[in-house]
Amino acid sequence: MQTLHSEAAMQVEQIDAYEALVQFLYRAPIGLVQTNLDGAVEMLNPMASSLLMPLARDGGLDNLFATLEDVAPQLKQMADGFDQPSGVVCEALRVPLGSEYSAPGAPQVLSISLLKLDPERLMAAITDATLEIQREQENLRRRLRSAARTDALTRLPNRSAAVEQLQTLLGRTGSEDRFALLFINCDRFRQINDTLGQSAGDRLLTGVGDRLLAALADRMRAGGLPANGRIDPAAGGAGLVARLGGDEFVVLLDGLRHPDEAERLALRLLDALARPHQVDGHEVACRASIGVFWDGGADGRDADAVIGDASIAMVEAKRAGGARHVLFEAAMRERAARRADIEAQLRTALAEEQLFVMYQPVVGLNPDGSTDHSAGVEALVRWQHPVRGLVPPFDFIGVAEECGLIDAIGDFVLERSCRDFMRWREQLGDAAPRLMAVNLSRAQLAQPAWTAKVAAILARTGMPAASLQLEVTESLAAQDEHIQVRLHELKGLGIKLALDDFGTGYSSLSSLHLLPVDTVKIDRSFVCKADTSHHHRVLIEATVKVAQSLGMNTVAEGIETQAQADAVRAQACAKGQGYFYSRPLVSNALVEWIGAQR
Ligand code: C2E
Ligand code: MG
Ligand code: MG
Repeated sequence: MQTLHSEAAMQVEQIDAYEALVQFLYRAPIGLVQTNLDGAVEMLNPMASSLLMPLARDGGLDNLFATLEDVAPQLKQMADGFDQPSGVVCEALRVPLGSEYSAPGAPQVLSISLLKLDPERLMAAITDATLEIQREQENLRRRLRSAARTDALTRLPNRSAAVEQLQTLLGRTGSEDRFALLFINCDRFRQINDTLGQSAGDRLLTGVGDRLLAALADRMRAGGLPANGRIDPAAGGAGLVARLGGDEFVVLLDGLRHPDEAERLALRLLDALARPHQVDGHEVACRASIGVFWDGGADGRDADAVIGDASIAMVEAKRAGGARHVLFEAAMRERAARRADIEAQLRTALAEEQLFVMYQPVVGLNPDGSTDHSAGVEALVRWQHPVRGLVPPFDFIGVAEECGLIDAIGDFVLERSCRDFMRWREQLGDAAPRLMAVNLSRAQLAQPAWTAKVAAILARTGMPAASLQLEVTESLAAQDEHIQVRLHELKGLGIKLALDDFGTGYSSLSSLHLLPVDTVKIDRSFVCKADTSHHHRVLIEATVKVAQSLGMNTVAEGIETQAQADAVRAQACAKGQGYFYSRPLVSNALVEWIGAQR
């Protein structure tokens, strides 16, 4: 009795459960359609008919595949191709409904899963995926938007984000708060990139970004920005560290009252960057130049123009030697425009061969009192400008270094002077100059492939390496180990090296032995007082003695008078150069000059 009763109860319970399930399936917010293998509908719930009805052309829903034929013809093919007795035919197939099927507010996209229940039957589960898709698209748009405003390398906000934020500040009225834009550029970054490789350069840039953020962390927090500094560009706030590209960063600071505050913050950033960076086990010094734009001078200029102004001040900082900041002033715009103008004209000059080389004799000051007029020459570049006339190197070498044109100019001077040198040998035989001095710039030495390029020029022109002397300034030669490596490579080719303008830089007699040079050129500022100032005479004498003790040659630069010539000769200086002997001459004039001395 007991058993009988419970069996009956169980039956009742099972019936109830089945009823509940059917009720659930009937009311479920998901369309369910059971069909045979051909798609003939055996059962469907109200949700399914409401979702499919717009597709039913004749108003009937007899066959699922026929109903879906226009929008999802592949469904029938998938079912036909599914040869297992049961299993998932397809899952969450997204079916966009053409505009002809979807009335306003009605589903625009269906999601259909098809299940093979057994060898005879299929079950389709259909939902309205319209909202889901809209949400996904919105997410994608947001991601793309933030990617479009994020620098891929450093994950900092990028230029667009900085411009946007700056534009907001520029449009602000009535606030006591002032902002400052700091334009930051790493000094000599290209050189680091060239020597350590681009991926090391990338890591250095990421490090620079981190240092900037860390140095401003307190301000960022004050401005309501996340302390980790990965400022959400969309969030906005009182400060922003962004990377514009390359080795250029900007820092936008708001809530300031006086330019002094901006300058103090610039100093703080310079300090933070000055500590050596660890990159791939190397200690890399990466100082920076900062241009500071102070709110108030914008005069209706837009964000791009303001960034341009800050970058002009940055260039001034760089020209002053780097590792410093400069506050923007309107007068700088004009100077920058003039430099840009020279740059453009210099490009034309290179293309139209307005550049040429002059040669200044370097004479031997023999101990017997005689003068050797064939000791050598120094190649000095000139620019024959169509309007300005003859432009001296001082007016364009600096600009050429800044804009990268110095490589092309340097190559031109080296090749041209080697060719002229070889021609003099043919024309003058034994009387031809025995040494050709050519000046080098930092940027040339920074090119990793430069030694090979020099070797190629020597091979092309037939110039003997031992007859070429490359001149570097003191500050350049003493500067860093990469330059030293390059200098040793050049010496390896058999080329001679000279230290130009000695006495004007910061290396001293005591560190002369550290530099891989053969010749020391004593600067004109000493030589011009050789006959009148005891102090300068002693300095010249000491330089000659130290150089001699190291097996180095000496040249006195800028000799203008007989008295100066006599004075440096008395100090046992081996060679002299200056207007007293000759001004720089064009190639043919030099040949005549040498002829006249014989
Ligand atoms: P530097 O290498 O020290 O060249 C000597 C400069 O002193 C030359 O000026 C020369 O004309 C001038 N000079 C020579 N003797 C006298 C003299 O007795 N009195 C006076 N007052 N000046 C004298 P320049 O040609 O104007 O060149 C200036 C500087 O420009 C050079 O100094 C050198 O550093 C640079 N330079 C010239 N040509 C090139 C070049 O092809 N490449 C590079 N990178 N720099 C160059
Ligand atoms: Mg020189
Ligand atoms: Mg010099």
